[in-house]
Amino acid sequence: MRLDKSKEIFDKTKRYIPGGVNSPVRAFKNLSITPPVISKGKGSHIFDIDGNEYIDFVLSWGAMILGHCDPDVVNSIKEVVEDQIAFGAPTEIEYKMAKLVCETAQIDMVRFVNSGTEATMTAIRLAKGYTGKKKIVKFAGCYHGHHDIFLKEAGSAVAELRLKGIDEDIVKNTIVAEYNNLDSVEKAFKENKDEIAAVIIEPVAGNMGVVPAKKEFLQALREICNLYGSVLIFDEVITGFRLSLKGARALYNVEPDLITFGKIIGGGLPCGAVGGKKEIMQFLTPQGNVFQAGTMSGNPIVMNAGYATIKKLKENPHFYSNMEMLAGKLEKELTQVFSNSNLTFCINRVGSMLTIFFGVEKVENFEMAKMSDLDLFRSFTEYMIKKHSYVPSSQFEAMFLSVAHSENDVEKFVEIAEEFCSSKRK
Ligand code: PLP
Repeated sequence: MRLDKSKEIFDKTKRYIPGGVNSPVRAFKNLSITPPVISKGKGSHIFDIDGNEYIDFVLSWGAMILGHCDPDVVNSIKEVVEDQIAFGAPTEIEYKMAKLVCETAQIDMVRFVNSGTEATMTAIRLAKGYTGKKKIVKFAGCYHGHHDIFLKEAGSAVAELRLKGIDEDIVKNTIVAEYNNLDSVEKAFKENKDEIAAVIIEPVAGNMGVVPAKKEFLQALREICNLYGSVLIFDEVITGFRLSLKGARALYNVEPDLITFGKIIGGGLPCGAVGGKKEIMQFLTPQGNVFQAGTMSGNPIVMNAGYATIKKLKENPHFYSNMEMLAGKLEKELTQVFSNSNLTFCINRVGSMLTIFFGVEKVENFEMAKMSDLDLFRSFTEYMIKKHSYVPSSQFEAMFLSVAHSENDVEKFVEIAEEFCSSKRK
């Protein structure tokens, strides 16, 4: 595969943008190949400026659930762009979008922001304002965005870095517990009795690779938050509208107090949201005194793209069963391929999100994820990308399928994985 033009542009970009990217994971720091510079996306495929075509299993880190440049999303943007770009004033689409999101995700109220990070930051401030408490519990390996409060034992791009610039005075109020380990949560509550404003968790983690929470664990978090008067926040920035219209909550039947959204909710445009119980949401300014604001929040083009995306998902419930079927096929066939090659591995999958871990048989938390064979993962990833299957460059991310992926896409991926295994045997 030639990446000459990509290399040239990437090198030139580094002169102006630190590391050449606007979000670190895009730089392929773990890999020895240049990140392809992408010029086009259509359905399940993306294209780079060297003319290479890839099946995309990254999908803008999960955002593009309908596939790239879905015609309904594109039209929703075209329809308004001549008249509405930004006003910083109310628009009707904000009402339509809020109603659709609240009815679809079954929440009382919602506030739109510009990213997942803003959504989680707002949720935490809201929890602090509502409870009058100042500490939070998060879980090792979960990633909730790039604000200081969350950057303690975080997953995703943070997993492989030693961080600087974090305000210790802020981070000292963040208590880290172990994912799927109730004892660690009980200990946090016993030691910080009336001080914990919120517990924030990815109900299905995507940022230590895919690691689902156990049902009893989430149920116990609900009970412990009730007992101590803390707010339970599900960070569904990845899982919201991906695992079902009601997100991961529907799979577990556990109701948090607040939910954060991102990625899919904006149809691929910058958007996030915090939503949940009216009793808490009404603390937000201007109704209440928990401050939150944003010049671009609820931008009409973003709202239109998000509206078109969620409406389409809602009108086509079979999308979810189709993605489940395809992802199931992918998991089953990869299991076969890796087993035939006598590899030790584990595939964690929930719906259309999946991670392959090599060298381990089970991954239930961040420690276990970190024990996986990162070298083998790296060479697998490089091989797959060179053979035109665009997969996440880090172990601590998830692979995604979209509505636009076909059986052929999945079969192609399995075929290349098989080739990789035979190349290792030689
Ligand atoms: N929460 C989760 C679960 C995420 O996966 C991410 C980003 O990947 C965020 C929050 C932060 O979202 P953003 O990158 O839009 O700020």
